Amino acid sequence: MKADVHPSHRPGNFYSGVDLNRADYLRRDGSWLSAALTDETARFIPVWRGCSLIETGVKTRGLWLRGAEIQDLPGYAEEAVFLGQHGGTALFALDLSGLETPENALTIKGRGAFQDLRAVGPLLARQDGAILAYARGLLHWHKRHRFCGLCGSATGLSQGGHVRACSNSACGANHFPRTDPAVIMLIHDGDRCVLGRQKTWPEGMHSTLAGFVEPGESLEEAVAREVYEEVGIAATEVTYHSSQPWPFPSSIMLGFHAQARHGPLTIDTHEIGAARWYTRQELRTSPEDETFRLPRRDSIAWRLIEDWLAL
Ligand SMILES: [Zn+2]
Repeated sequence: MKADVHPSHRPGNFYSGVDLNRADYLRRDGSWLSAALTDETARFIPVWRGCSLIETGVKTRGLWLRGAEIQDLPGYAEEAVFLGQHGGTALFALDLSGLETPENALTIKGRGAFQDLRAVGPLLARQDGAILAYARGLLHWHKRHRFCGLCGSATGLSQGGHVRACSNSACGANHFPRTDPAVIMLIHDGDRCVLGRQKTWPEGMHSTLAGFVEPGESLEEAVAREVYEEVGIAATEVTYHSSQPWPFPSSIMLGFHAQARHGPLTIDTHEIGAARWYTRQELRTSPEDETFRLPRRDSIAWRLIEDWLAL
């Protein structure tokens, strides 16, 4: 089975490719931001305790709110985060975590419900998923950086929500949204590849190996280290494949293919529950049930496996 389209010509991974002008120059334009917030074309993407507002209806999609629907919420304008311009529409993300029952507080009763993007993501159109992921990731960072890491003073939203500024004038530190790099890699010997599973994963799910990049190492070194730590084999010929924003809560997944000599695996049971070599035939005939299933279709892990199967 050959892929119909060369991997480099296909759309990016899910949660990427958002049709949004991030318009960083507008983040520093306070008067433009104030006007945009109250413009009737503005739309607000609410996030509540990590969950995204999903429309209740035939089609699964994110529910964007109008200014009139949130104007009674205290402090919304001060805490709205400018995501960018989508067509002619200014998009803002809004954290409603302070409300106990946000569906009741808004004029959305019956139209939508807050759901975990990790669960509902595969049902969404790519653009929708990408924008909700961006909103979720940025608001998660705000929630975790309310105080300055240097002096402990409160921080406040600045530059449309792309900076948090320390309120202590003697300190004055600016803090920027962070994304944690993680490597994810399909290791193969040409004919077989290594998949593993963590005990906390859904029943039967197997996937590629992965881990966070540590300070002072290259991505290639991170791949080799993680593979050696998790299954005790040496990864060589590490080749970049693609990347995927993964805001659960704040990662970017950097995907690789790499080779290893076929041999017994020494599994670190602190890191993973099980791992072994699988042939292409085994994966192509995956039962997709609680005995064995491949990773979710919106993940880069799936793409790494799919492209290797097509080689
Ligand atoms: Zn400070």
